Formats: sequence, structure tokens, C-alpha cells
Amino acid sequence: MAVERTLSIIKPDATRRNLTGRINAKFEEAGLRIVAQKRIRLTMEQAGTFYAVHKERPFYGELCEFMASGPVVVQVLEGENAIAKNRDVMGATNPAEAAPGTIRAEFAQSVGENSVHGSDAAETAAVEIAYFFSGLELVG
Ligand code: ATP
Ligand code: MG
Repeated sequence: MAVERTLSIIKPDATRRNLTGRINAKFEEAGLRIVAQKRIRLTMEQAGTFYAVHKERPFYGELCEFMASGPVVVQVLEGENAIAKNRDVMGATNPAEAAPGTIRAEFAQSVGENSVHGSDAAETAAVEIAYFFSGLELVG
């Protein structure tokens, strides 16, 4: 299996509740290494660009407002099979369907305010990492 990198975001509902450290512990316990990390506040425009794939969905406006509603922690996670592994650690989008022990099962508040984002494929991971980080900021 190949070593991969994936883009993770700790969302505003989680930073608001001071959960950054507990969420990072879940990544590290799963063998994912945080090779870049910064806390930023997204504008509506930046949130809209990041989630542009969902712009026709009914929840797009609400999603962008939520992502711009408070600080987020953007990070790059590295490890064997990191993209799928991170999705496993996150759990299902809807916390009511997330497996026990996953981040969303333990921390998410709703299908919208679900604490974390993770890239869903190698191509999106590359685009999403480049959206937030320069090569110099990735320290493996
Ligand atoms: P993410 O892309 O944030 O990692 P995901 O891949 O599990 O999550 P997507 O289908 O890509 O889920 O949806 C992106 C985000 O949009 C979700 O994480 C959630 O915050 C929001 N979202 C998805 N479905 C709904 C919905 N039905 N109502 C409100 N918000 C939603
Ligand atoms: Mg997604």
C-alpha cells in the first residue's frame, strides 16, 4: 500500500467546542501523521470555492455560511492509505450513521455540523492540499 497525503479540516463546530486536540489524537492513534496544520478563518468566498462541487445542492448556502462561521484547522495527514483511512476515522457524514468510536459518532452535532472534512480521492486530495498549503509548508 502506498503512503498518501490527504486534506483534513476540523470544522467550526469542533473548534468552537475546543475539540482540536481530541480530534488530532484520533488521527494519530490511527497512524496518521499531521505533516502540516494551521488555524484560519475562511471567508464565504473561500468556503464557496472549496465546496464548489456541491453548489447545486440545496444545503450549499448553509454549508458555506457554517464553514465561514468560525475558525477552522486545515491540515495535511500522511500515512499508508491515508485517504481511505481518514474517511474511516471520520465516520459517516451523518453522525447518526457513523460507526462507534469514529470522530463523527463522538463529536458531530448534525449532518451539516459534522466536525471534520476529509478528501474523498487522490485527485481531490491533491487539489485540496494545494488550495491551502505550499510545498514548503508540508513537513513529513
Ligand atoms: P466532507 O466533504 O465535509 O468531508 P462528506 O464527504 O462526508 O463530508 P459530502 O457529501 O461531501 O460529505 O458533503 C459535504 C458536507 O456538506 C458534509 O460534510 C456536511 O457538512 C454537508 N452536508 C452534506 N449533506 C448535507 C445535508 N443533507 N444537509 C446539510 N449539510 C449537509
Ligand atoms: Mg465530501
